[in-house]
Amino acid sequence: MRASTLTDVGEITVEDRDRPDPADDEVLVQVGACSVCMTDYHMYHGTFAAETPLVLGHEGAGTVAEVGADVDRFAVGDRVAINPTVPCNACSYCKKGETHLCENNTSIGGAGDTILDGAFAEYVRVPAINVEDIGEMSFERAALAEPLACCVHGVEQADIKPGDSVGIIGAGPIGLLLLQAFRNAGAAPIVVSELDDERRELAADLGADAVIDPNEEDPEEAIPAAAGGPVNVGAEAIGLVPTIKQANAVTAPGGSTLIFGVPDQEATMEVSPFDVFFDEVDYRGSFSLTTEDFERAITLLRHERIDAETLITERIGLDDLPAAFERMGNAEGLKKVVVPGDSE
Ligand SMILES: [Zn+2]
Ligand SMILES: [Zn+2]
Repeated sequence: MRASTLTDVGEITVEDRDRPDPADDEVLVQVGACSVCMTDYHMYHGTFAAETPLVLGHEGAGTVAEVGADVDRFAVGDRVAINPTVPCNACSYCKKGETHLCENNTSIGGAGDTILDGAFAEYVRVPAINVEDIGEMSFERAALAEPLACCVHGVEQADIKPGDSVGIIGAGPIGLLLLQAFRNAGAAPIVVSELDDERRELAADLGADAVIDPNEEDPEEAIPAAAGGPVNVGAEAIGLVPTIKQANAVTAPGGSTLIFGVPDQEATMEVSPFDVFFDEVDYRGSFSLTTEDFERAITLLRHERIDAETLITERIGLDDLPAAFERMGNAEGLKKVVVPGDSE
């Protein structure tokens, strides 16, 4: 089989490999589509550590091609999405359902302490507990289950109620999915701040009640002005300290500031403990997803609660990853999806 393999920092080689054999509790998935994420981008550039050689790709979906001896829930030909977070189901976090915080943190192709080969390949081995049935939806749509599950997780971390107001800073692919996840949870109004004209217009099309151009207006004033006051949740979907501060500045007393974009591991910021104390504004983190979030994301996708197709701007082959990473670095386009069958 062909596999797009990270062989060193900044180096991807399309290799011919043996088709893997699934273990007794695994299935072998023939990859139909696997979308590209900023996490892949960081692993490619070495800003997230990864031991090479490694096949990246943690947002995959496809067809079950083989099942292990102990697998009875799936059969050859089933259409599935892959949850990349492998729970050990033995640690106390897993037992509480917090599988994303598992002590034995293992990921299929994504960032983790242990990283297994991912889905930028024609086939990938996956524990049977890590695949979900997707019915008839397209593999490209199903590939967005993983990033959407991260957004479902973010919405849960923000702990909102219907009618709570939300400000979102940053409308890249993940910000636009987060917007849709908040809408599904009943957030209103939702105000989005985004520099790029096209992304800002898309945010309006996908349901933002107001959009702000930070080149034209100061988001710290414009977001509360558009939302009718400070917002219950200020969500940052970029991962930069200045915009996290913006999100916090627009968060209402009693609300929460959601750190959703991936910040630099070395970044630090000043926090006024008095403000946290006096205004009871929480900082909430949102990392990855739980098994439950993944299932909820599939449900939202299956029942057409999410516009995924608008977010998918490029279909690429296994050979095209380095060029795709370059375009991601320049914020060109939105989601890029690898379709392994397209690259002969
Ligand atoms: Zn991802
Ligand atoms: Zn665990």
